[in-house]
Amino acid sequence: MKRANIVGSGPNGLSAAIALARAGVRVTVFERADTPGGGVRTEEATLPGFRHDIGSAVYPMAVASPFFRSLDLEQHGLEWVQPEIPLAHPLADGSAVALMRTIEETASLLGADGHAYQKLMAPLRDGWADLVHDVLGPIVHFPRHPLALGSFGLHALQPAQTFLKEHFRTPQAQTLFAGAAAHAVVPLDFAATTGVALVLAVTAHVDGWPICRGGAQSLTTTLVKILQGLGGKLELCKAIRSLGDLPEADTTLLDVTPKQFLQIAGTAVPVERQRPYEKFQYGPGIFKLDWALSEPIPWTNELCCRAGTVHLGGSLEEIVRSEADAYYGHSNGRPFVLLSQPSIFDSTRAPAGKHTAWAYCHVPNGSREDRTTTIEDQIERFAPGFRETVLGRSARNAEAMQAWNPNLIGGDVSGGAMTLNQLIRRPKLPPYSTPVPGVFLCSSSTPPAGGVHGMCGALAAARAAVYMGIRLPPLR
Ligand SMILES: Cc1cc2nc3c(=O)[nH]c(=O)nc-3n(C[C@H](O)[C@H](O)[C@H](O)COP(=O)(O)OP(=O)(O)OC[C@H]3O[C@@H](n4cnc5c(N)ncnc54)[C@H](O)[C@@H]3O)c2cc1C
Repeated sequence: MKRANIVGSGPNGLSAAIALARAGVRVTVFERADTPGGGVRTEEATLPGFRHDIGSAVYPMAVASPFFRSLDLEQHGLEWVQPEIPLAHPLADGSAVALMRTIEETASLLGADGHAYQKLMAPLRDGWADLVHDVLGPIVHFPRHPLALGSFGLHALQPAQTFLKEHFRTPQAQTLFAGAAAHAVVPLDFAATTGVALVLAVTAHVDGWPICRGGAQSLTTTLVKILQGLGGKLELCKAIRSLGDLPEADTTLLDVTPKQFLQIAGTAVPVERQRPYEKFQYGPGIFKLDWALSEPIPWTNELCCRAGTVHLGGSLEEIVRSEADAYYGHSNGRPFVLLSQPSIFDSTRAPAGKHTAWAYCHVPNGSREDRTTTIEDQIERFAPGFRETVLGRSARNAEAMQAWNPNLIGGDVSGGAMTLNQLIRRPKLPPYSTPVPGVFLCSSSTPPAGGVHGMCGALAAARAAVYMGIRLPPLR
């Protein structure tokens, strides 16, 4: 029987482990923390009974993921909860736009741009079942559906800032689209930011933007249960400092970023082959806030009260400035804020009648600045009286986020800057393999990059399997 070591129990580490365990490989996952999950964990970070997702919270890419779909997560106890509206975005004038579950409902909120939105999104929605395999495949590969990918790519590779001005006339549609593009965590005049916005928008219309009943940890618990059901082992509180800390195995997969890889692999990487890992660029960090609340957030616009996720950035220009400032190392007085309000849809998150909220903004990598007041000011702008509902708060700057999870280098939540060059190389071609024979990278620093979908882990496992002379079944 073949053996594999996996270092790190984030969604990609666990996915790599499950993919190999399904093929009969004896797998052990080593995790430094005392709870598994990496960026997919839930903690009582404020007051007793208030359960907060410290990292990820909203899972459009998880429900879309071909690998997660192959696991029948619901059969193993996971319950997805679908907020009535995936995303609302209040505007400076008191109105709001939203990504609704259907293209038609969304278009009806976009006035003069409704038709343009429908024309743009309908082909993507109709082709998504095929396209998802290419979008969540290795970035460089022979596409399964070249025509569909080709027409998606024509739009997707463009900078969002140019694309949205060409496609939409109204500030409503432009601001909604800019907020979705800001998930790329690079300035909106960078190539391929349109692709991020299109993918997030289409997922809202196909599978929604669900959260997990009980919190993000439920997803991790389900993955661990599946792994253990296949005979895989998980060892907690096991920080791996060098490859020598690991038991003998046929292969090792590291759910870590390039910087950590160099530390762990040490002299096993010849000096002349260390360059791509040393040169790998990390993106902006985040400042994260979690609140225990006495009541739901008192949004002025009622669309926001019905949404799982709310984007706060009053106009296209505000969002563009905020994302550029975070990337180029400047502080911003009106940051673009991503907010989730899970307890409205999942009563397990807080004691009866009480609520939780989760938010962050992008900040310069490694920033130690306290952004609590600026983020809360942004919320107050669209929900006056918010501060009076706060019973408790937990705040983490970029440095504290890295202390919580060492993969968040300088607070970077994407495993590396999502520039076009790095999306392709991430950090080298071919992806997953490293200069150390039998050692592979499987984290979000590999294609298809950040987000909870497990595809980096599943694709790295396929590479490791070939190395061991095993074939994994293709994902349908
Ligand atoms: C605040 C925040 C909000 C986010 N929001 C979302 C969201 O809503 N939706 C979404 O899809 N994505 C979101 N993300 C991104 C998502 O969480 C990540 O893309 C995802 O978790 C990456 O998974 P991973 O397995 O590659 O790495 P991680 O989840 O970071 O896991 C890596 C694991 O490796 C362990 N590890 C590292 N070094 C060692 C070592 N030497 N020895 C042993 N163990 C080690 C770590 O402790 C950790 O458990 C968010 C992230 C953050 C931080």
